[in-house]
Amino acid sequence: MNGVDDLVTWLRAQLDEDERVAREADSGRWLPEDKGITFEYRADDFHGGEAQARLVADTRANQWHIANWDPARVLAEVEAKRRILDLHHVTEFESEPDHDPMGAGCAECGHFDWPCETIRLLALPYAGRDGWREEWRVSP
Ligand SMILES: [Zn+2]
Repeated sequence: MNGVDDLVTWLRAQLDEDERVAREADSGRWLPEDKGITFEYRADDFHGGEAQARLVADTRANQWHIANWDPARVLAEVEAKRRILDLHHVTEFESEPDHDPMGAGCAECGHFDWPCETIRLLALPYAGRDGWREEWRVSP
């Protein structure tokens, strides 16, 4: 595996981790109320299958931030990013007969740079996690 393929593998591992954490979190509605977040979730362990829990957040902005990043939102983000990764895969471009090989690049973008800027941008929010390489960063 070369360094650029490592980015795709590494990014898929970050998405797997986001999915794992979101699936382990309480998956019901997350509601900003008063000075906290109320989690409404269903669990077979509770009487009637429903339960609530509360988390105190110190500001209204923090409440909304937490509520906006509920597990359903995270899982939707993960799925969308996986689909983008599926679209932006490496391909060998066909060359004309009797010409040198054209090389590889992104099947979606059609550029020879691989991984393409789209993949590098998808990875950027995960910069700093274990395994991140500065060479993957998108140039400004
Ligand atoms: Zn691309």
